Amino acid sequence: MSRISDILAAGPSYSLEFGPPRSPEQEERLAKTLLELEPLGPSFVSVTYGAGGSTRDATAKVVGHIHADTSMTVMPHLTCVAHTRPELVAIIEGYRDEGIENLLALGGDPPEDGTTYPSDFAYATELIELACELGDFSVGVAAFPENHPRSPDTASDRRHLADKLRLADFGITQFFFEADDYFRMVDELAALGVDTPVLPGVFAFVNVEQARRFARINGAHIPDDLQRRLDRVDGKPPEVRELAVEVCTALGERLMAGGAPGLHLYTLNFSRATKDIWANLDLPR
Ligand code: FAD
Repeated sequence: MSRISDILAAGPSYSLEFGPPRSPEQEERLAKTLLELEPLGPSFVSVTYGAGGSTRDATAKVVGHIHADTSMTVMPHLTCVAHTRPELVAIIEGYRDEGIENLLALGGDPPEDGTTYPSDFAYATELIELACELGDFSVGVAAFPENHPRSPDTASDRRHLADKLRLADFGITQFFFEADDYFRMVDELAALGVDTPVLPGVFAFVNVEQARRFARINGAHIPDDLQRRLDRVDGKPPEVRELAVEVCTALGERLMAGGAPGLHLYTLNFSRATKDIWANLDLPR
């Protein structure tokens, strides 16, 4: 089964997210991580997309490798920002012709290096429509339990998210640390008449400074208790990993007990924490 909508319809889905490598060393680590995590039998894996610069092509390369050389179902991420319509058409048709059946359609953010590129689309909804026009993709979208950082208020953010989920097959959330934030979002979507499955994203952080930076950028609140624990392990990689495993395991348990349709683990291209979380949660292999 390789359409994510079918996977979700069949039962809980346990997926992994990777990022395209930016150097030969990172390429080597990703190859090793993929080999180590494939035996877990994830329901699918996804590969992020850098709106500008070198990782644009790297995403397609990693996706092609996973699709052709592994047993894993793969989903590329794609952003509207910094792309013209013809560029997006070429990328999507490339995936379609390769036999890729899933796509995560994203608005995206302007490139961090300040480079400006022409963008024909403003919102993820336009990319969903394009993907559906060009192929029979199972399309996912991003969801933000704690609101998208650029949203002026929760009500409008939820309305836009609901509109997006009405067009898509499933959602995947930004990471968060409090299960209640996820369940509140699901309830608010239900009140708007939307029950499209939304997979909670769980963040296996590996570095304290990076975890705080990502949380700041993505508007994810780090609870006070976790802040203190992060302070204590800062600069000690094995202890950071142990804390990440503990936090992700506890969060995963709460999410699954509360009826989440599965889990999506942000691996940061490392395997060990993911394997430990998988084992702790007794996820199917
Ligand atoms: P949109 O759905 O377009 O929303 C963006 C903002 O516009 C929101 O504030 C929304 O409320 C508002 N909005 C939506 N529609 C309208 C409308 N019609 N009128 C007015 N306002 C509107 N980024 C990457 O660069 N590469 C990745 O690979 C990547 N992967 C991600 C994976 C996941 C699971 C998640 C949660 C995020 C990911 N991101 C990635 C980050 C994402 O691209 C950014 O957060 C981006 O700012 C928003 O993307 P979106 O798809 O939610 O955008």
